[in-house]
Amino acid sequence: MFDSLSDRLSGIFDKLSKRGALSESDVNAALREVRRALIEADVALDVVRSFTEQVKEKAVGVEVIKSVSPAQMVVKLVHDQLVEMLGSEGQVIDLNTPAPVPIMMVGLQGSGKTTSTAKIALRLQTRDKKKVLMASLDTRRPAAQEQLRVLGEQNGIETLPIVEGEGPTQIANRAMNAGRLGGFDVVMLDTAGRIHIDEPLMVEMAEVRKVANPHEILLVADSLTGQDAVNVAKSFDERVGITGIVLTRVDGDGRGGAALSMRAVTGKPIKLLGVGEKADALEEFHPERVAGRILG
Ligand code: GDP
Repeated sequence: MFDSLSDRLSGIFDKLSKRGALSESDVNAALREVRRALIEADVALDVVRSFTEQVKEKAVGVEVIKSVSPAQMVVKLVHDQLVEMLGSEGQVIDLNTPAPVPIMMVGLQGSGKTTSTAKIALRLQTRDKKKVLMASLDTRRPAAQEQLRVLGEQNGIETLPIVEGEGPTQIANRAMNAGRLGGFDVVMLDTAGRIHIDEPLMVEMAEVRKVANPHEILLVADSLTGQDAVNVAKSFDERVGITGIVLTRVDGDGRGGAALSMRAVTGKPIKLLGVGEKADALEEFHPERVAGRILG
């Protein structure tokens, strides 16, 4: 569907005379293609702009090594800059605080929040041998609490019993108490989402945060959301204060530009990737892989 960046750049540089160093006009021509590639990969426009500026600064005047073509040289510069901006790999969930450690999951409806809650709980339980309690604070969508209960049952993870009529902060309180009394290591709070960011959602998240005092607040975001990812990440980070990002549907056809956009606007690490619907379809973040995918 897309030409890779290398193919596009070879086309450009073939037309240019061979020179010892990358000139500003060589770099500008190449960066037009880089910009197009990033936009096709759904990187937000502001981020594309700042990214290409940074690459330009590094690229102009770089000596082209004899053994590689100028196109390969620029692709490498772009790739390295992408990896640098995407951040370091192996970012783990921080449990370094007295148990039970509250982890709050936030995000828009349909982003994969509930699924990711169960995936992370399962991982903490099986890999790290932690005792995990999950609680759904979503009192808006009637089936949400039941969905988490079923996921818990299917995967052998305990869930907080459902009590009709309670609000999100009451459930959060009860979950933390149950976590303490039950000797749990981790309490995962799956919050409500909305189709779009709205004020009541932000107020609710802030209230839950106050009650539960989460050690991690993970934003779950759909990697296919593209340009919108920036607004989602910005809003949640400004209003709730996230500690990391879980990117879902990385198994889909998207090029992963949302990863770069969200990382760039929040500066928060991408911690985990959702790569399927099953409870074990969760992977650690490798910037190299995501960079390769963005470049096509
Ligand atoms: P929530 O509304 O944010 O809680 O979203 P859900 O967890 O209910 O997920 C919505 C849909 O996306 C469900 O059908 C999930 O199975 C699916 N889903 C969640 N994460 C992933 C993922 O990483 N890959 C794929 N392919 N599907 C996912």
